Amino acid sequence: MKTNIRVALVGNPNTGKSTLFNILTGLNQKIGNFPGVTVDKKTGFCTLPDGRMAEIIDLPGTYSIYPKSKDESIVFSVLADKSKGMVPDLVVVILDASNLKRNLLLYTQVADLKIPVVVALNMVDVSDKAGIKINIDLFAQKLGVPVVPISARKNTGIDKLKSTIAFANSVPLQQDTIDIESIAPGIIAQIKGEMQVENPYIALQLAHQHETLSYLSAAESDRIEQLEQEHSFHSQKAQATETIARYNFINDLLYDTVKKAETAHDETISNKIDKILTHKVFGFVIFFAILLFIFQAIFSWSEYPMSLIENLFIWLQAGAAKILPAGPLSSLIIDGVLAGLSGVLVFIPQIAILFALISILEDTGYMSRVTFMMDKVMRKVGLNGKSVVPLIGGFACAVPSIMSTRTIENWKDRMITIMVTPLVACSARLPVYTLLISLVVPNRNVWWLFNMKGLALTAMYVLSIFSAVIVAFVMKFILKSPRTRLFYYGTARVPHAKVEKRDLYDV
Ligand code: GDP
Repeated sequence: MKTNIRVALVGNPNTGKSTLFNILTGLNQKIGNFPGVTVDKKTGFCTLPDGRMAEIIDLPGTYSIYPKSKDESIVFSVLADKSKGMVPDLVVVILDASNLKRNLLLYTQVADLKIPVVVALNMVDVSDKAGIKINIDLFAQKLGVPVVPISARKNTGIDKLKSTIAFANSVPLQQDTIDIESIAPGIIAQIKGEMQVENPYIALQLAHQHETLSYLSAAESDRIEQLEQEHSFHSQKAQATETIARYNFINDLLYDTVKKAETAHDETISNKIDKILTHKVFGFVIFFAILLFIFQAIFSWSEYPMSLIENLFIWLQAGAAKILPAGPLSSLIIDGVLAGLSGVLVFIPQIAILFALISILEDTGYMSRVTFMMDKVMRKVGLNGKSVVPLIGGFACAVPSIMSTRTIENWKDRMITIMVTPLVACSARLPVYTLLISLVVPNRNVWWLFNMKGLALTAMYVLSIFSAVIVAFVMKFILKSPRTRLFYYGTARVPHAKVEKRDLYDV
């Protein structure tokens, strides 16, 4: 398909990026990988009102251009790496209109890369309901970019967005947001000169990210390292300075352009639900009830499709045994291919059920609440709030549970969870335990009440949990995270800039 313009979609997670991508591209999508990395690359095509064809690239959701995960590091590479010809002609930054303060951080960073930008102000239905009034014209004027209010879920404003995309690469570049050069003047000037980089923000990013950017040669990366020493460049300090400056810009912008209607009952339903879901007692009760449900689902619901798959293969094996003459070929097909396939495919129902339930928890936002609740406890042993589900799932089967660890963004936490999940006693071990216990443990009662065999089985499960916790704790000290220097921009710790009265006005 001949494309005339390449457009990248950029935004925080959960801002409706996928929904917008699907609306713009319809069924015209393909999924591949970004060159050299196993990060999904979703591209699609969209016909613009002027008849031109736009290639739309959906970049992974990120809170900032400073990556926390491999997926996120793609965003800067795509926007800045001219060598692979992937740099888009235009970036559509999707902002959640009901959560502008946090969303605008990424916008200001993308804007400073000086690629033409269009802002898609999504979820205006939610912000309207919350009484948030945005002066769109002033907002657009202050940013110096076209701003189109849309609701991806309700499919409103999409035609306007398409026509804005069609004309946007002829509009002047966005306003500067902060004074980049003043953050680290020496090193920025030197990188600009030596590496033929015109844009000061890209030069600054090279200083921050050179170790992880695949498009830099080893010699270039070493040279930047040397410059860092010469100029005493401290990555975290520079990021903190930058973030504070950005939030000052954002606070001023929001103060001038956004008004929130005073409502007597400011607490939304979602806030009320949140309070219950993350409550010190009820939160855990609800969470354990949901885990019990997931556990039940993996254990019992999957039994029917699993036995169906097993029976299908038994039937196929019996059929093949009848048709094929006995010999090495029939043995290869019956005992090798069919038995092997059956051994693998039998896990599909468990994997599908666990994945479906986890995506429901993710998409409804419940997983973020669980992470918030469990994080403190799990961190102590080197795990992450999100490790709970794979670990509990491990009691049923380690295969889907390990696959489900992909939702854990942090590499180190993910690795530790993957390594300790197989230590949790899975259901396939139960018959083995039962057999061995009935052979070696005497059938005697202890303290009248407890049967020794029952105690032995419980001990095996307790032992498995202990071994997982101890190994996780040890791994915490052994594993070194490949990227520890970057600032954390997650939802929990958004730094506040100069504290003024207006900062309390949080949009
Ligand atoms: P992504 O993580 O940025 O790709 O976000 P998604 O496209 O998966 O959307 C996250 C959630 O927001 C989904 O439940 C969407 O249905 C919902 N959503 C997306 N756009 C809108 C919108 O304009 N209004 C409302 N109310 N919800 C939306």
